[in-house]
Amino acid sequence: MKTPDQWLDMLTSHQVRMTSGLLTIIAVLSESNCALSAEDLWEKVRERRPATGRASVYRAVEKLESFGLIERVHGVRGCSSFIPVQDAHQALFICSKCGWVGLLEGLEPDRHGLQMLVRDGFIISQSRIQVLGMCKACQELVS
Ligand SMILES: [Zn+2]
Repeated sequence: MKTPDQWLDMLTSHQVRMTSGLLTIIAVLSESNCALSAEDLWEKVRERRPATGRASVYRAVEKLESFGLIERVHGVRGCSSFIPVQDAHQALFICSKCGWVGLLEGLEPDRHGLQMLVRDGFIISQSRIQVLGMCKACQELVS
């Protein structure tokens, strides 16, 4: 994952105007260990910057996604949550209840299977292991 400074470098190199709202949004996203929807993000940003409008958070999410800095997490809470973009081969565990994201070490996509796909004429743009489940904290809440 890129550091907040790398995010700022990329955005300023694309002439994105740095507002205090956008800086707060970037700080919240980079510090969160959970997938956040735009609505979650708006809530968290307002804890630090109460005057932040909902529309500016939604616009920032669109902008950060279009620059490849955040990505949508599929299969969690209606596919509307985002996490900072991770390295292409980083395996992830995502709690489908609370959105907590953990990095999994040592799990790699099946290279042989991928080679077979390429041989069969598919073009692969991304291959990642994404494990959905329930984190320990959520399991304790349920039991
Ligand atoms: Zn959880």
